[in-house]
Amino acid sequence: MRAAILTSPGDIAGRPLEIGEAPEPEAEPGHVLLRVRACGVCRTDLHIVEGELPRRRETLIPGHQIVGEVVGGATAELPVGARVGVSWMGGTDGTCPYCRRGLENLCDAPTFTGYTVNGGYAGYASARADFVFPLPPKLDDLDAAPLLCAGIIGFRSLRVAGVEPGDRVGLFGFGASAHLAIAVLHSWNCAVYVSTRGDSHRRLAQSLGAAWVGAEKDKPPVELDRAITFAPSGDVVVAALASLRKGGVVAINAIHLDRMPEFDYDRLLWGERQLRSVANMTRADARDFLDIAAAIGLKPKVTAFPLDQANEALLAVKRDAIDGAAVIVP
Ligand SMILES: [Zn+2]
Ligand SMILES: [Zn+2]
Repeated sequence: MRAAILTSPGDIAGRPLEIGEAPEPEAEPGHVLLRVRACGVCRTDLHIVEGELPRRRETLIPGHQIVGEVVGGATAELPVGARVGVSWMGGTDGTCPYCRRGLENLCDAPTFTGYTVNGGYAGYASARADFVFPLPPKLDDLDAAPLLCAGIIGFRSLRVAGVEPGDRVGLFGFGASAHLAIAVLHSWNCAVYVSTRGDSHRRLAQSLGAAWVGAEKDKPPVELDRAITFAPSGDVVVAALASLRKGGVVAINAIHLDRMPEFDYDRLLWGERQLRSVANMTRADARDFLDIAAAIGLKPKVTAFPLDQANEALLAVKRDAIDGAAVIVP
């Protein structure tokens, strides 16, 4: 099969993904074999390909927002031809203290799609049958792909931030995840304040109904109840903290930050303000979010790339050169 293969991580401008032939995944017990119909591109893929996350495999096929069709390992619940989604959480042990507490996102021995196992930048992919999600028929392949990480983890970030209906919520950064979160927030009657770099990201936020839009480090005109940061930048986290009311929460939706700068405790964290990271997702997050997405008719803004343009798709994500989400179509 055709695949985008990583053997030596490096700057994406140097095209570290090799597009070539790879063996099809072998049938494994408890897994389904999927023909990949589309695979979303996530900033985490970029961190993996550029080597900012520790290397876990000699050769790797990235991609963890897979829309696939069951072609092997079918079961009564997942018959041949069923269309399913696969996300970053590719499996858990089910036995560690976190799994036993219902915190499978923090599992001590997790499998991550497109990182510890091969992912969806390929013609075919294998996935644990109990970690795939049937997709609502009204979402087409391209629209469903970005929901599977950008959407689900954005949604989890809203939960981690403790968003309540009617809250004033700040989104710092306005890429694939934020442009989906804003629709969920509006369905909860929240007012959304967006700080982001890039004119076109600001225009997109405006067109999606943000109450206020500013540049990356601009301070929203009101004190926020909650803020979610999406940029891989510690300065942005501090800017978000500086925008909170007492008792407010910042949730950091980033697997990697450039650094965490020193900040003034008395002014920025005192007053029971909270700073929380968002790690991975649970299957319940995925199911709940996909239900909401179908109910509100969530429609991502998508730019499609053929598989042999996988490096270019990641470069576009790095440069914030596209609005919404990039999706690879093998
Ligand atoms: Zn576990
Ligand atoms: Zn992701």
